[in-house]
Amino acid sequence: MKWFINKRIKIRPVETASISECLEFIEKELRAAGVSSRLTVRAEITCEEMLLRLIENSTGEGSIRIQIKRTLGDTVINISVKGREFDLYGGEGELSDDIEDEEAQSVIRSFLLKANDSNFRYSHKDGVNSVRVMTGQSTVSSMKLTMGALALGIVFGLILKFVMPEALSAGFCDYLLTPVSTMFMNALKIVIAPVVFFSIVTCISGFGDLSELGRIGVRVMGMYLLTTVIAVIMSFFVTVMLSPGKFGAALAMHGGQAVDINTNVDTSLLSTIINIVPSNFIQPFLESNTLQLIFLAMITGIAVGKIGEYTPVLSGIFDACNSLFLTITTMIAKFIPAAVFCSISLMLVNLGGSSFLSMLGYFFTNVLEVFIMIGIYGLLVMAMGRVNPLIFFRKIRQSMLTSFTLCSSSAAMPENIRTCTDKLGVSPKVCNFSIPLGATINMDGTCISLVVTGLYLAKMYGVNVPPSALPALGLTIILLSLGCPGVPGAGLVCLGIVLEQLGVPISAIGLVIAIDPVLDMFDTMSNTTGDVACATIVASREGLLDRKILNDPEAV
Ligand code: ASP
Repeated sequence: MKWFINKRIKIRPVETASISECLEFIEKELRAAGVSSRLTVRAEITCEEMLLRLIENSTGEGSIRIQIKRTLGDTVINISVKGREFDLYGGEGELSDDIEDEEAQSVIRSFLLKANDSNFRYSHKDGVNSVRVMTGQSTVSSMKLTMGALALGIVFGLILKFVMPEALSAGFCDYLLTPVSTMFMNALKIVIAPVVFFSIVTCISGFGDLSELGRIGVRVMGMYLLTTVIAVIMSFFVTVMLSPGKFGAALAMHGGQAVDINTNVDTSLLSTIINIVPSNFIQPFLESNTLQLIFLAMITGIAVGKIGEYTPVLSGIFDACNSLFLTITTMIAKFIPAAVFCSISLMLVNLGGSSFLSMLGYFFTNVLEVFIMIGIYGLLVMAMGRVNPLIFFRKIRQSMLTSFTLCSSSAAMPENIRTCTDKLGVSPKVCNFSIPLGATINMDGTCISLVVTGLYLAKMYGVNVPPSALPALGLTIILLSLGCPGVPGAGLVCLGIVLEQLGVPISAIGLVIAIDPVLDMFDTMSNTTGDVACATIVASREGLLDRKILNDPEAV
């Protein structure tokens, strides 16, 4: 597969007879670029229709110019011909019995073009008609690349840990794996604050009617609360049933070694609420403080709609900035496979092998609950959103994998917004608002982990947790998850508070600290799957789900 391509051709004369030559060039170059046969045929059909229209409306001068361009996997065909501006869907109308053959063909062609609407753009400038046809991804989809990178990363990580001499392995970590994953995470951090801010401003300023926004907001919050409560109750139930760990075992095996949880995260509910309002406009951007950014974006979005003649100008600017940062995100996302390879290898190298093996029961209980929760999302999406869960999971698997490897809801947020709009057909009115919010306050996987780990450590330390203590524990966990930031390891900080409430020594964290990075991957995947599921359900119930995109097998 080639990552960069730029091929041009000029074909004369500008007549319908030249179309086959144009199509031959397009087919040859798309195949050489590694685009799948299905996508090539689809692009050819669209290009043929476009060429017909361009030639029909041409002045006959000059040539048909075709450019095939690929930047990092997305292939685009640009066709331009001199001519007058025209209606792209010209010739549309009802098919009737007495329709002339030519007219019928034109109608069918218009329908064909409409059916492929998302795949091309028409423009007219300086007497030249141009169309831009997007062919989608190449044969090697980014999903396959990411899966491949994950598998290779695991193999490489195991080689580094168990086969390679320590000095060489440290060299790989210090000079290849750590720099690449740090650069990738830094690049993502560039876009987190602008994506949160501009997506919410654009979303809110796009609502003419603020009561519609209020209704969507209440539904989104309601869904987040529902899934969180389900996660906590399910987790209590499964953990008590499976009961991982041996009563009091840790007292003998782990000598109460103190563990420092080095963090600046403030998990108290009152300060979380107070800190939602920032004291200046810039700080939240510098600190990527998502809750404060959401607050700023909400008041900015509402204000944009209230400034009369400036409203359309500013809305346009915010809209453009939103597209800009989502495009930058798309460019950064191309490097996900490399980041996945490096982070998974690094994680394996840094993992304490023996503690990992000693806690398989606890580990599998947590993982099992994450998968039960994912099953529950599927049921909710089907029952409340009337969406086929198989299609839903097929569409979001790449973004699940991204969250899994990045271990950060915030870092995965731009990818999740893209998945919602481009693959699931969720209107930006819903996901531009709900995904950034969910990345901050909707943490079902974290709740699951807090329940399992809390109860597991209580058992290991011989602390009896009576059923009557569970509701208060559940409430604490739900509140903690609201304030828990979507960054790697944040759940471990909240765990300290859960342990305190249970009367388990804080040093107990030492038992799970080695396994936490792995569980964090599953928890983060559940956190973000919950955000996407809730956005899909709310969009469906609000009539803001484009089922054409949802059911389009190419939009994956
Ligand atoms: N890493 C998780 C997230 O970003 C939070 C946590 O559970 O640590 O969603």
